[in-house]
Amino acid sequence: MTESGGEFDVVIIGAGAAGLSAARHLASAGLAIKIVEARARMGGRAHTVPTELGFAVDLGCEWLHSADINPWVPIARQLGFTVDETLPDWGRRVAWFEGDAAQREWQAAMDAFYARLDRAADAPADQPASSLLEPNGKWNALLGAISNWANGAEIDKVSVRDYGRYDSTYVNWRVLEGYGALIARYGDGLPVEFNTRVERIDHAGPRVRVETDRGILSARAAIVTLPTTIIAEEQVKFAPALPEKVAAAGGLPLGIVNKLFLRLDETGASELVREADRHLVGALDRVKTGSYQIRPHGWPVIAGFYGGALSTELERGGIEAFAAFAMDELAGLFGANIKAHLSPIAASSWGLDACARGSYSMALPGHADDRTTLAAPVGERLFFAGEACSIAHFGTAHGAYMTGEEAARAALAALTAASDRAGTAWRGAPRIPAGT
Ligand SMILES: Cc1cc2nc3c(=O)[nH]c(=O)nc-3n(C[C@H](O)[C@H](O)[C@H](O)COP(=O)(O)OP(=O)(O)OC[C@H]3O[C@@H](n4cnc5c(N)ncnc54)[C@H](O)[C@@H]3O)c2cc1C
Repeated sequence: MTESGGEFDVVIIGAGAAGLSAARHLASAGLAIKIVEARARMGGRAHTVPTELGFAVDLGCEWLHSADINPWVPIARQLGFTVDETLPDWGRRVAWFEGDAAQREWQAAMDAFYARLDRAADAPADQPASSLLEPNGKWNALLGAISNWANGAEIDKVSVRDYGRYDSTYVNWRVLEGYGALIARYGDGLPVEFNTRVERIDHAGPRVRVETDRGILSARAAIVTLPTTIIAEEQVKFAPALPEKVAAAGGLPLGIVNKLFLRLDETGASELVREADRHLVGALDRVKTGSYQIRPHGWPVIAGFYGGALSTELERGGIEAFAAFAMDELAGLFGANIKAHLSPIAASSWGLDACARGSYSMALPGHADDRTTLAAPVGERLFFAGEACSIAHFGTAHGAYMTGEEAARAALAALTAASDRAGTAWRGAPRIPAGT
C-alpha cells in the first residue's frame, strides 16, 4: 500500500457516485487530483455483489431513475453495459392480489395524496408528510410503507417541502450487470487511495490539508462527498469548524433501506412467481411490510426491499432475520408451500455500514433548505457534493453524479479565478470538456 500524502490541485473525499463524477470531470480538465476513500472499493452506496447463481445483484442502487435524463445511461452504453429498459410495474402492485377495482381505488387515493403534497410543498410553512394523510384513510398503511421504501423513514419524519421538490420523469431502467458495477467501472483508472479514512479537513491556510489515518494530503481545493451521517456525527472534523454544515447534515439524515435476495426454486411454485419482474407488497394493511420483486430480469430470485424502523430492526438480526420475515410475508401471499422453494443468498445492512450509516438522505420537516446549505462552497476552497446536496434528485446515484459534476465545475472556476487574480498562468486555463 502506498503512503497517503502529496500535493494536488484537488483532493476528493469519497469514491462514490459523486466523488467519481467530480474526479472524472477534473481529471479530464487536466488537473492533478487524488481521491481518498475509506473503503477498499469504489462505489460507496453503489455496490454490486456476485451470487452463487452466476449473476450479480445490487445491494445498493439498482434503478436508473429518470432514465431519459440520467447521465449514467449514456455512460453505461459507452462502457458496454446492458441497459434493461423494462419498466417497473410499481403501478400494478395492488392489482395482482386485490384486482383492478382495488387498483383504481388505490390509484385515486395515491393521486389525491400526491396532489395535496404538491400543493403543500409550496406553502410558506413546512410540515411532516403524514399531516396530508386522510384521517383513517383506507390506504394510509400503503402510503406509509411507500414512504419507508422511498425515504427510508416513516412518513411523519419526512418534510413535505423536500418530498415535493423531488423530480422524476417516471422512466426507470436498470443495468443488467449492476448499477454498482457500472459506477465502479466508471472510476477505473482514477487515482484513488483506498483504505484511507479522512479524519480532519483543515481549510484555515492557503491550501487545504486533508488529514487521514495514513498521512496528510495538501491541495488547492477539496471536494467533500461524505454521507450526511458522517458529517453530522463529526466523524470528519473541519478546522475551522463548520457548524452550519454539521447542522445541515443533521437535518438530512440517511433513511434506512435494505435488500434481501432469495433464491427461488421454481419447481412446483405457483403461477404468480413465474412472471418475471413483478412487484408485490407483503401486506396492504400495515406499514411494516416489504416490497417484493419477483424474478428480476427473469432470474430465479425474489428480492425483498425494507425501509424505516422495520429495516433497522431486521438488519440487526442479519440475513436470517430478513429471510424469516420475508418467508412469512411471501407465505401470506403465495401459501406456506413457497417457503420450501426459497433460500437466502444476499442481504444488505446499510445502517450498520461504518462508511455509510444509512441508505439515502431525507429531510426532516423544516429542513428542506438544508440541502442548499450543505451544498454551498466554503471560502472558494472547500466544495460539497453527494446525493444529499441535490435539491431535485436527492437519494439517487444520478443526483450524486450531477452534484459531483457541479462541484468540479465550481472548484475549477474558483481555482482559475484565483490563478488569474494572482497573475499566474495556470495550465492554460483548464476546462471540463462537454459530455465528460
Ligand atoms: C439499498 C439502497 C437502494 C438504493 N436504490 C437506488 C436506486 O434504485 N436508484 C438510485 O439512483 N439510487 C439508489 N440508492 C441511492 C444511491 O445508491 C446513493 O444515492 C448514491 O450511491 C450516493 O452516492 P454518493 O457519492 O453521494 O455517496 P456514497 O456512495 O456514500 O459515497 C461516499 C463515499 O465516502 C466514503 N467515506 C465515508 N467516510 C469516509 C471517510 N471518513 N474518509 C474517506 N472516505 C469516506 C464512503 O465509503 C463512500 O465511498 C440506493 C441506496 C441504497 C442503500
